[in-house]
Amino acid sequence: MSDLDAFRSQARAWLEANCPAEMREPMRDESDACWGGRNPAFKNEAQKLWMERMAERGWTVPDWPREYGGGGLSPAEAKVLRQEMARIGARNPLMSFGISMLGPALLKYGSEEQKKRFLPEIARGEIRWCQGYSEPNAGSDLASLQTKCENKGDHWLVNGQKVWTSYADKADWIFCLVRTDPQAPKHKGISFLLFDMASPGVSTKPILLISGYSPFCETFFDDVKVPKDQVVGEVDKGWDVAKYLLGHEREMISGMGLGGQTGSLGEALGEVLAGDPLLRSDVARFEVDAMAFRAMSERFMDELKAGLAHPALPSMMKYAGTELNKRRHELVMTAGGSDALEWESDRSRKGKAAREWLRTKANSIEGGTSEVQLGIVAKRILDLPGA
Ligand SMILES: Cc1cc2nc3c(=O)[nH]c(=O)nc-3n(C[C@H](O)[C@H](O)[C@H](O)COP(=O)(O)OP(=O)(O)OC[C@H]3O[C@@H](n4cnc5c(N)ncnc54)[C@H](O)[C@@H]3O)c2cc1C
Repeated sequence: MSDLDAFRSQARAWLEANCPAEMREPMRDESDACWGGRNPAFKNEAQKLWMERMAERGWTVPDWPREYGGGGLSPAEAKVLRQEMARIGARNPLMSFGISMLGPALLKYGSEEQKKRFLPEIARGEIRWCQGYSEPNAGSDLASLQTKCENKGDHWLVNGQKVWTSYADKADWIFCLVRTDPQAPKHKGISFLLFDMASPGVSTKPILLISGYSPFCETFFDDVKVPKDQVVGEVDKGWDVAKYLLGHEREMISGMGLGGQTGSLGEALGEVLAGDPLLRSDVARFEVDAMAFRAMSERFMDELKAGLAHPALPSMMKYAGTELNKRRHELVMTAGGSDALEWESDRSRKGKAAREWLRTKANSIEGGTSEVQLGIVAKRILDLPGA
């Protein structure tokens, strides 16, 4: 038996013994996700137990080093673990921008002190993070951001506004792009700052989405004092950290193309397809593209974990994955006909299909729009003239 086979049987046995039955059910909605945080809202005991057991083993972040709360697994072992979790339908034990975005940036750019301070609590789900990048006049053109950060000797002083800050009203800390040198060219003079959302001067105002949910906020900073040691990387060179983190964000968002635990669309729609050859053909085309995306995604993850991925590849994957997810939900709505538009009834589980469909419209905006991703692919991967 190879080492990897031995690891697979150990992981399988451990998961069988430790993953509660409720955590092997597909997630029904957002409320089934566990986000941790200072005041975690666990849906039930099984969810709490699952997160704690996985964190204890370092498997909320299987490939992070052990000294920072990770599992210390090799890329190949981490892949086996993902496969074994998928085999039993195990839920992700912890959703976290700390894991998918900030962690990788800290591992690359953080000081040793910052890694020791922040990474273990991210791995254990103790602090919930939000992302303060976009501003009212800085979205696609992110480097135009204006949030002011002044050096006041023994602390930083932050003033400004962010927008579309996902879960800012629920987050404990923020990773935030701020302007530390207003005179420098716009990509320079930006720093990457971490601070507590409970700091005096921070306030949030929820924004309502078309789906009826309110997952994000306007976030205001009014004379917020931040300790000096909370800049990640060099002062004025935060753009490098920001871009690196965006690659990880896009990798995470591209995962939407995998369809989560919903399985085959053809199987889910079942009988509806029997009487509708046109829809059947659209679904078949979708299924083939979804299969191709899964294969591409596997190769991408292998390359990424081996450090061999082209830095612009997450843009390609983000574009492909989010456009695919939008198509999936369009097809679900087409198959459901006018009944699928029900918004409030119990029968429709409070308009689940319609709300999820509308939510997917944001997939090609969040983390950078589809148009911007295509621009990056054209310029950096295809090397097209004039792109
Ligand atoms: C659900 C959701 C969650 C989000 N969460 C966060 C978060 O947590 N933190 C955060 O900081 N931000 C967040 N965002 C903001 C997101 O990053 C921005 O919305 C996105 O970068 C686009 O910026 P914008 O909205 O200002 O649009 P604009 O930049 O104003 O773009 C408007 C239109 O112009 C097009 N466009 C702009 N520039 C170009 C170009 N160069 N080439 C071609 N087309 C172009 C765009 O594609 C778009 O269609 C979130 C957004 C959504 C929808």
